[in-house]
Amino acid sequence: MSRLPPLTGLLPTAGGKLLIQMAERKFDTLAELIYWSYANLQMADAACSMHKEKYDRVCYSIRAKAYKSYLIGSWHISDLYRQQIEKLQKSNHSCAYCGRVFATPKEATVDHIFPRIKGGTNEMENIVFACKTCNSSKGDRDMFGWFLEHFGEFPSIYLTANYLKKIYLYAQTNSLLDLPLETLNELDLPFDWHCIPTKYPEPTYFVIDYK
Ligand SMILES: [Zn+2]
Repeated sequence: MSRLPPLTGLLPTAGGKLLIQMAERKFDTLAELIYWSYANLQMADAACSMHKEKYDRVCYSIRAKAYKSYLIGSWHISDLYRQQIEKLQKSNHSCAYCGRVFATPKEATVDHIFPRIKGGTNEMENIVFACKTCNSSKGDRDMFGWFLEHFGEFPSIYLTANYLKKIYLYAQTNSLLDLPLETLNELDLPFDWHCIPTKYPEPTYFVIDYK
């Protein structure tokens, strides 16, 4: 991953809270928040594929269709993730977070996206290869919140897709999807719902992923 220019408006504030300003849109439930975030990610992915520099009407209609399709259940959150797995497999020789290429396989450590201490599993979908520096820096923090604060940048489409999908599946399994967002504050979760992004960078921000 190459260094990207800083992303104004999305940078973390002290304490790691308010990482991302909530969009004007109001979300009542965790499901709505996840679907909106994923629909934005889908728009970013489509815009990159179409080599667009900025989001336009075509992109916004893709996002609108995705959001609606997730809400009514005709599309599923894992679809985009699956498309990205292949790209990840090509990048196993480098840190999933900072992109540093490992000189020897021993430099690669296994990092759990949902921390083990918070119930994260050893399944492949919860694992990325990371350098020791990133691994110990992230610790048991929310992956997305840590990444933004640590690098001052938005994670790749793959990492974001993986993160959102994991939250979705966790929320589905634990019947959290229809809960009002405020009630989530009282639960000990392997993610921080405040970190779920609702505003995404322009497509040009993502196109240098996976080169
Ligand atoms: Zn690293």
